[in-house]
This record gives sequence, structure tokens and C-alpha cells, in this order.
Amino acid sequence: MTEPLEPGRGTLLTEEDELLEEDELWTDDGSTDHTGWFCVATDPFLCPAAGCEFVASFMTAAHLVLVWEERDDPNLLRHAQRAKEVGRNPRIVHYRPEFGPSASYYAWEASGRPVHGVRGRR
Ligand SMILES: [Zn+2]
Repeated sequence: MTEPLEPGRGTLLTEEDELLEEDELWTDDGSTDHTGWFCVATDPFLCPAAGCEFVASFMTAAHLVLVWEERDDPNLLRHAQRAKEVGRNPRIVHYRPEFGPSASYYAWEASGRPVHGVRGRR
């Protein structure tokens, strides 16, 4: 069979991959061009949030493609390793804008790692 498999519901990869309310989607400032940075492509998986139909094929946070400036960034390697352990077939690739909105891992981390529904804006 060469039919693409139905993507399974994603398992929680990290403590960061939590449930997200759509109206609380965090965004990076949006003006940064991350072309040429690195991201982690994975086999497609459904957002772990119950009822969310978003299918990710990259390592994401709040539906944004997480990008790292350095290919050998220890955090990138750690996330890729976790993806490998759960069978998501991770590949470190150059980020391109057509992959979708991106967020710098470090901007995301500096923002308090906003995730699905865990930290509402107050
Ligand atoms: Zn979602």
C-alpha cells in the first residue's frame, strides 16, 4: 500500500506539548524571517489537543514551527531525539516560509513556553 497513513493523534512529546485554546495561540513577533534556520520535520501527527484538527509535520509549539539558528543546538537535538523515540521519524531540515508560521525556540522559551490552554493571558 502506498496510501498515506491516517496520522495518529500525537502523543505528548515534551512537557511543552500541551493543550491549547485557539484564542490563546501564542505568536512570535511574526516579522522575523527564519529562512535558513533549522527545524525538525516529522511524520504527520494530529495536535494533541482533544478535538483539534491541526496536523503538524514539524516540531511545533502552539502550531508554530519551532526553529533553531544552529543545527547542533542542544535543544534542537534533544527535541529531535524525543521525536525519534516515539517513532516520528525526525529530520533536521532548513526552515522555509512555506512550512508555515515559525517561532524561534528561544523567543518561545523566553515567553514562558506558552502552550495549549495552560497559560491564559491575564
Ligand atoms: Zn491544536
